Amino acid sequence: MIIIMKPGAKPSSVQNIVKIIRDNGLTAHLSEGDQVTIVGVVGDKTRLSQSNIQIAPEVDKIVNVTESYKIVNRQFHPEDSVIHVGNTDIGPHTLTIMAGPCAIESEEQLLSTARAVKKAGATFLRGGAYKPRTSPYSFQGLEEEGLRYMKAAREETGLRTICEVTSQKAIETAVKYVDMLQIGARNMQNFELLKEAGKSGLPVLLKRGLAATIDEWLNAAEYIMSEGNENVVLCERGIRTYETSTRNTLDISAVPVLKQKTHLPVIVDPSHATGVRAYVAPVSKAAVAVGADGLMVEVHPCPACALSDGPQSLTFDDFGQLCQELKPYASLAGREF
Ligand code: PEP
Ligand code: MN
Repeated sequence: MIIIMKPGAKPSSVQNIVKIIRDNGLTAHLSEGDQVTIVGVVGDKTRLSQSNIQIAPEVDKIVNVTESYKIVNRQFHPEDSVIHVGNTDIGPHTLTIMAGPCAIESEEQLLSTARAVKKAGATFLRGGAYKPRTSPYSFQGLEEEGLRYMKAAREETGLRTICEVTSQKAIETAVKYVDMLQIGARNMQNFELLKEAGKSGLPVLLKRGLAATIDEWLNAAEYIMSEGNENVVLCERGIRTYETSTRNTLDISAVPVLKQKTHLPVIVDPSHATGVRAYVAPVSKAAVAVGADGLMVEVHPCPACALSDGPQSLTFDDFGQLCQELKPYASLAGREF
């Protein structure tokens, strides 16, 4: 449920409501807009039945939130959230480009990619150190050694860094080296992992599960946020369908659907969505046009030699060209890039 205060309500009236909510053993989430403050209530709202909250000073109205996700819900927070990662903002006024190899393979591979993607316009370096591969015999990632290269790349280039985590142990290690955690498609409903990511203190990029509905995905985000971590970004990376020409099918309409349902930023991963290098650029442009807050793109110094996802990885030149071609799209979408 949300409690909408009257326009210009005094801080003392808002605090009074927050106190009533807390005294009844519930959690209050404040969203302070330019005109109106909204107080979101999480927990068993029947506990408030005796509190006469509707006649408390400066309460305008009370609205029931029927969806099971609350903190993630746009009704709780009508304005778009901006997620701060170091000195970089992910949100409605910028186009955030995250780029880098699928897997970190060596220091030279990562550093050369970091330099190239930074030059082209990326603000985040991505790279997998813990790889959830379909086959147990495929390259599983360099783990902590890879994370050390991530840290070195950040120190040299100033890029923010993001790495997928697949276990609690991986989270404990990754927080020492990177700026943002990624929960991959295969772990979107690994609820224990989501809770640990929520407690990590780092912003989290939550990818959509291979066959997850948007509501399941938003509930997964709620798991992270209900641990007190408000810094969540969603990433549409394609879903399983009967179509085989692409690795997955990009659900482009997920972007406007999410924009309506949640205040969280939404980015698109055209690499895993298509699985085909030639389709990465057109799909990236579509994502920006439809309102995505950013892109996550796989880039490799030698895609043909890549230990994972070579066929969908862009060369440095391809990525440089894509960033140039994205500029007019970003500008039309009113985003700085
Ligand atoms: C990745 O980003 O490298 C990855 C494994 O993606 P996804 O979880 O979307 O498959
Ligand atoms: Mn990959």
